[in-house]
Amino acid sequence: MTEAFLSIGGNLGDRLANLQAAVRMLGDREDIVVREASSLYETEPFGVTGQPDYLNAVLRIETGLEPEALLDVCQQIEARLGRVRIERWGARTVDIDILTYGSLRQVDARLTLPHPRMAERAFVQIPLRELQEGRIEWTEEVRPFAFGWSPSTRRTPLWVHRIETGSTNDDAKQLAAAGLPGGSVVVADRQTAGRGRMGRVWQSDAGAGVWMSILLRPS
Ligand code: ATP
Ligand code: CA
Ligand code: CA
Repeated sequence: MTEAFLSIGGNLGDRLANLQAAVRMLGDREDIVVREASSLYETEPFGVTGQPDYLNAVLRIETGLEPEALLDVCQQIEARLGRVRIERWGARTVDIDILTYGSLRQVDARLTLPHPRMAERAFVQIPLRELQEGRIEWTEEVRPFAFGWSPSTRRTPLWVHRIETGSTNDDAKQLAAAGLPGGSVVVADRQTAGRGRMGRVWQSDAGAGVWMSILLRPS
């Protein structure tokens, strides 16, 4: 079995349901085990403007498939979920890219590994680091790309959506230290260790409340 990281994202239809369906289809296969999924991140479109925001995540899988066969599976799942290729970087229900396959390096018209554009994409780097290091951490190399995909959007406030987190406040503080701009919002469906006034601990099941922190920076 080889460890691989996949990037998964989409911006059409029920984005969460589409991503969940894709993860399920991957995991249903005998030759793929989905080991871990990052938080979900809501991100601005890259490349083609005027399309809806994306939901993005990164998966860590183990697979017995060869890289090209893994790409076949990813593309079959995209097709089953109704992806239609109209324009490059245009809106899509689900896009699944192979970021890395073990330590394999190859340049090929059909499959280049590691994914040639992954280093410059915050929506890949942030969730990837979350899985690789268990927490979000920045390096100088990543930081310039951390919150935007082009110079014009780099300082745009970001909406960080997490399905589950310890505390949106702790996330916001960590992200603020890393340069997240003022006006950004961290929101979670479920909080497991939030702290309110008087040290009260907040917990909630999905749907039982809205958990959010807004980053305010004096200008
Ligand atoms: P980008 O590749 O910049 O993220 P995209 O995902 O929107 O753009 P697609 O139309 O999904 O582009 O894919 C175009 C082609 O890229 C695929 O048909 C595939 O053969 C090729 N490709 C090359 N390397 C990879 C990789 N590591 N993962 C997925 N596809 C790849
Ligand atoms: Ca892609
Ligand atoms: Ca793709």
